[in-house]
Amino acid sequence: MENLFERLGIKEWEQGALIGSNRLDCRGRVVEAKSAVDGKCLCKVRQADAAAYELVVQAAAQAFVRWRDVPAPGRGEVVRRIGQAFREHKKELGRLISIETGKILAEGEGEVQEAIDMCDFAVGQSRMLYGYSMHSERPGHRMFEQYHPLGPVGVITAFNFPVAVWSWNAMLALIAGDAVIWKPSGKAVLSAIAANSLAARVIAACGHPEGLVDVVIGPGEDIGERMSADTRLPLVSATGSVEMGRRVGTRVLSRLGKPLLELGGNNAVIVSAGADPGLVVRAVLFGALGTSGQRCTTIRRLIVQNSIFDELKELLIGAYKGVKIGNPLEEGVLMGPLIDREAVAAMERALEEIKAGGGKVLYGGEVLSGGIYDGGAYVRPCLCEVESSLPIVGKETFAPILYLIRFETLDQAIGINNEAPQGLSSSIFTNDLRESELFLSSRGSDCGIANVNIGTSGAEIGGAFGGEKQSGGGREAGSDAWKAYMRRQTCTINWSGKRELAQGMEFD
Ligand code: NAD
Repeated sequence: MENLFERLGIKEWEQGALIGSNRLDCRGRVVEAKSAVDGKCLCKVRQADAAAYELVVQAAAQAFVRWRDVPAPGRGEVVRRIGQAFREHKKELGRLISIETGKILAEGEGEVQEAIDMCDFAVGQSRMLYGYSMHSERPGHRMFEQYHPLGPVGVITAFNFPVAVWSWNAMLALIAGDAVIWKPSGKAVLSAIAANSLAARVIAACGHPEGLVDVVIGPGEDIGERMSADTRLPLVSATGSVEMGRRVGTRVLSRLGKPLLELGGNNAVIVSAGADPGLVVRAVLFGALGTSGQRCTTIRRLIVQNSIFDELKELLIGAYKGVKIGNPLEEGVLMGPLIDREAVAAMERALEEIKAGGGKVLYGGEVLSGGIYDGGAYVRPCLCEVESSLPIVGKETFAPILYLIRFETLDQAIGINNEAPQGLSSSIFTNDLRESELFLSSRGSDCGIANVNIGTSGAEIGGAFGGEKQSGGGREAGSDAWKAYMRRQTCTINWSGKRELAQGMEFD
């Protein structure tokens, strides 16, 4: 562990405020950064206090003023080098993510790869910050739009993707010319310190102010709310639960700032009778059990056509029985622990509610004990047969519970998909073109992500990521998501030498 910390620049005692990789002396509460693998303390962290927060924001604001003058392709070159640093530290950073969050090593390293991909994407984007040019209605006039850096931006992240979600925001913000203040989840602070420090060291080596990337660690109700209310941060991107999104969104909007919300999901997969069951089972295993069911895009509802329901149910029970649960750092393990005991308690409460509401537990749901299981929060993943009208099915329980729901007609299945208050990700398994096209049509899925013959999780960074309804409406990572991190300006230039008014108005 010492070696890992050394390679990643993590100190024995950590501070909750970093300007780049420089620690500030904080006066907040001392908390433990814990391993999800065995519950042990990895390091103590003194959280940021109001004074440390203030210093961080000032440093970010000063760094922004210098950074916005660097041409965007030059900013892209710095991000290219940050991507290189992530490549060189992929194994160590991936391992730290696995230790802190409990996801298996393949997923920990996959998360770092996502950050690398995001850097590559942002480098290309740095030469493509396009604005439209328009034909003016006035002779001798030229009109166009341009995009300028926005300012220091706040990024609040959830525990389950401590590095990837920051990179979706930070890499685009950096090429856009912004500084980034990151408030990570208190459950994954070391991954944040390590990733931010890697980026900061590259920035410093390139001769730019390290304050372009900063970290503040503290409770959401304190540091997070401070950021939401801070008029110096024109944009606050927040990833987490719907409840958190409501608070951040309301606070940011009340000062007429821009919130960018990436919130909870309640993702469904529709399985049509003609689907390939082998493909469905493999996709469901990854989609429902990856990150131990703690992804925003985790498959939570499997809506299966009646004629194949029983066959698929048996196949899934068989596949779930074969899943090795244990230390996420060991080869062959497919499912590690939940993040903590609170998450286990939430899962247990949900199971009680399912049973009380007439749902049937088909497999799993037990809390595991003995050996390593005693330190961490290990559970057996669970399959339940339910009616979609059961109230708990409309909620996101952040645990590996998969609801199996029957349907007869595709319209009915799409109705069930869309009746969830959240609208993040969705998919259909079918070999019938008409079914997949209906699912993707305006009468189909109402989610921000809609897939065919792929599960709901594991998105690539090239597409805009985000959801509708209670999932928050934000879009990050791919496509034109960069625009959120810039301010847009419409310019009209009169080179005619005459005063011409729009709408053909006379004013003489
Ligand atoms: P959470 O809502 O408990 O916390 C998320 C972040 O918000 C943390 O950094 C937390 O400290 C902060 N926070 C909490 N209250 C706050 C407040 N009042 N003001 C400002 N910040 C506050 O979520 P979690 O348990 O860390 O993560 C799980 C949730 O995140 C799930 O709902 C999951 O679906 C969602 N998530 C969404 C996406 C997405 O892209 N849509 C990605 C990952 C996770």
